[in-house]
Amino acid sequence: MNNTPDNLKDLAIEIREAFYTVSPFIEKHTAIVCPECKNLCCKDKHGRHDQDDIKFLTAINEAIPPDQSERDESGPCRYINVKGCSIERYLRPFRCTHFFCDPLLHSLENDNAKLYRAFVEYLQHLISIRQKLLDY
Ligand code: SF4
Ligand code: SF4
Repeated sequence: MNNTPDNLKDLAIEIREAFYTVSPFIEKHTAIVCPECKNLCCKDKHGRHDQDDIKFLTAINEAIPPDQSERDESGPCRYINVKGCSIERYLRPFRCTHFFCDPLLHSLENDNAKLYRAFVEYLQHLISIRQKLLDY
């Protein structure tokens, strides 16, 4: 792979497009299962961007989230509000798109089979190109 900054930027733009593609299907199902959830997963420790998240945000000229390590990591995520997550999916730590609890997974799997298969393909595409980011 050619490690020029331009290629990293192109890859990051492709990753952002893949987030746009998978997000509506996930959002559809989080809107179904999350309001009833008694075990909210959005703890502050999950809302902390790691080095690869920051590499991605930098490549697409997004602001780097400020260090807020003084926050209680087991408290509510800094990005949560009454409507749920306050930031677009591609701006969240990648783990927020990679994690599916059992109720969410069950809801996704029980959608239309064709839609679910397409979603899985897009998600695998996102994961594979996000993996390439780690080489830069
Ligand atoms: S993703 Fe799962 S664990 Fe997290 S808030 Fe929604 S239902 Fe709860
Ligand atoms: S960034 Fe959003 S989805 Fe991720 S833990 Fe925080 S509120 Fe939840």
